[in-house]
Amino acid sequence: MLYYKDPYLKKASFKIIKKEGKKILLEDTILYPGGGGQPPDVGYALYDGKSAKIEHIGDGWHMLSEDIPCEKEVPIEIDWDRRYYLMKSHTAEHIFFRSLQTRCDVNLKKISLDEDESAIIFEGDVGIEDILEAEKHTLNIIEDGREVKTYWLSLNDAEKIKDLRIARDRIKDSQIRIVEVVGYDRSACKGLHVRNTSEIGDFVVTRVRLGTKKEVRFLVSEKAKQWRRTLNEITRKIIWERNLGTDKLQSYIRNIETERDAMRDALIEELKHTSFTEERCGDIDLVHRVFVYGEHKILQHRVMDIVNTKKAIVIYGMKNNNVVCMAFSDGLNWVRDLFMESIKKSGGKGGGRGNFVSGHVENAEKFVMELKKIICDMAIHLHGDENGKTD
Ligand SMILES: [Zn+2]
Repeated sequence: MLYYKDPYLKKASFKIIKKEGKKILLEDTILYPGGGGQPPDVGYALYDGKSAKIEHIGDGWHMLSEDIPCEKEVPIEIDWDRRYYLMKSHTAEHIFFRSLQTRCDVNLKKISLDEDESAIIFEGDVGIEDILEAEKHTLNIIEDGREVKTYWLSLNDAEKIKDLRIARDRIKDSQIRIVEVVGYDRSACKGLHVRNTSEIGDFVVTRVRLGTKKEVRFLVSEKAKQWRRTLNEITRKIIWERNLGTDKLQSYIRNIETERDAMRDALIEELKHTSFTEERCGDIDLVHRVFVYGEHKILQHRVMDIVNTKKAIVIYGMKNNNVVCMAFSDGLNWVRDLFMESIKKSGGKGGGRGNFVSGHVENAEKFVMELKKIICDMAIHLHGDENGKTD
């Protein structure tokens, strides 16, 4: 296919072999159908001074966005900026992964190239330092201006290459396409790459996830440069505003985190002991409180204890996240509807199972105060006040 022979060809005409409405079979094409983590090309079929979107859907078959009057031949133009960016990203991905592999024991799971941020998903024991080192190596190889060669080998010959990166279990063909960054990496790959590493221009890792699922996101070329510029500005603003040096930024953030954790721990410790306010409404105890800082699990545990030991309704709110909750004893199910109605009225959302409901509102304190009154009125109405009278 022409996209392999000359990945730099931006426009060419092709003979139409078969035409079935918007589907056409072409003799050859400059449009990559996608594969190996590289998305299909975007292209345009040109006719009568107009253009229709065209995509290579495989085996020479192309799908047009509309029926075009061409019968024998069709000129196709590729969205070159997008394609060239993908070629640069793809080549950078090879170099980066090889760089990572020389440092750590890693196993490539998935590549997802994009016209913006691309992603590499992998397994292995990798730390932040390894990522930074691999990025540095990648930039060196880009600067080296190494030639990138592509050629086909039989599976037999390919397997003789020591160090070839190949997803052996996924390969079904007898002919293997090899992409070689001369003197650095050889990989079995069907995608499109640049001819020289210098074309990549720049490479930057933008995001790193090193949990169970490991992922690195990156940008190349001008987008990488722009990202660095933005980060540079943000970082400088942070350190200038706080009169820090670059050497102090990390410890500054760590100190804030330590302090925050200590404060949160202290607040949580308080939560275990702070008492609720109790009111008598009809024949039930209405228990309530608004917390400046709440921790859901601790409070839920505490209020369930209350409603399980006496006939009570507990309402509480947490100002830190504007979450409101209510627990009630068996036999007081009527209170659930009042809670849900109030949530609805205040424009919030809520729900819950059994004797516990919760929701999200705009103002937790206001909500608790209002709901408390509604519930108290209803409790007196249903069960009578302390003298046994009802409204
Ligand atoms: Zn590749």
